[in-house]
Amino acid sequence: MNLYPISTGNFKLDGGAMFGVVPKSIWNRTNPADANNMCSWSMRCLLIEDGDRLMLVDTGIGDKQSEKFFSYYDMFGDDTLEKSINAAGFKLDDITDVILTHLHFDHCGGAIARQGEKGFRPVFKNATYWSNERHWKWATEPNKREKASFLSENILPIQESGQLKFIDRIDDFTANVFPNIDFQFVDGHTDSQMLPIINYKDQKLVFMADLLPSVGHIPLPYVMGYDTRPLLTLSEKESFLDKAERENYTLFLEHDYNNECCTLIRTDRGIRLGETFDLKEIL
Ligand SMILES: [Zn+2]
Repeated sequence: MNLYPISTGNFKLDGGAMFGVVPKSIWNRTNPADANNMCSWSMRCLLIEDGDRLMLVDTGIGDKQSEKFFSYYDMFGDDTLEKSINAAGFKLDDITDVILTHLHFDHCGGAIARQGEKGFRPVFKNATYWSNERHWKWATEPNKREKASFLSENILPIQESGQLKFIDRIDDFTANVFPNIDFQFVDGHTDSQMLPIINYKDQKLVFMADLLPSVGHIPLPYVMGYDTRPLLTLSEKESFLDKAERENYTLFLEHDYNNECCTLIRTDRGIRLGETFDLKEIL
């Protein structure tokens, strides 16, 4: 198995929204905000080459929204999904599977491109796109609070392409969909977000998506204001981090601007950040 981090560029989000009830005087030390109170975040996807499969986890924000839409997110950096896949030695058509942790626009926007004036097409024409039934229903019949994050042009064309499949959710942990990837399901950020747990060499590497956007979110009360069920996120994070520390998981961080991966340590104040490093250091 080979793993490649896939940078799709960076964006900015309001620091207060990213840290929920934590005051700016605290989070601003580690995540300095600009004059508009915006902090920098990455959209870092993961490419997994395993046997004859080439699996992409999440796709970034894509390029099909309006200039006005993108202007809200101060996007920066030269990396794109396609450039980074090419730099890893692959083409878009080589991708066999696209695993979408959830359908918020910064995770699935790159899965679908514009075609002509009004049409859309899947970016990965040879791939199966994976979601799960419960999240799909949640995203396509959105509540008013999350509606602005579930853009129909990111979602419906996946189904229309005939390339969509659902991973069966069995309790909160599903195995055996792919030979070396299991899934942890969590419901605090959005309903039925799925986190790939990759069995790599003799260790587990977990794609943290929005259960843990950055190392700054490790202490339990640091829960994003965006989360639909913050107390549930807190307890999901508590049990996940406890297990991850005990079993020495490597955490792969989708949104951390400065750190690709981290480990955890146990302290008398709770679980805290261990080491940070780039994915290539464990390859
Ligand atoms: Zn999200």
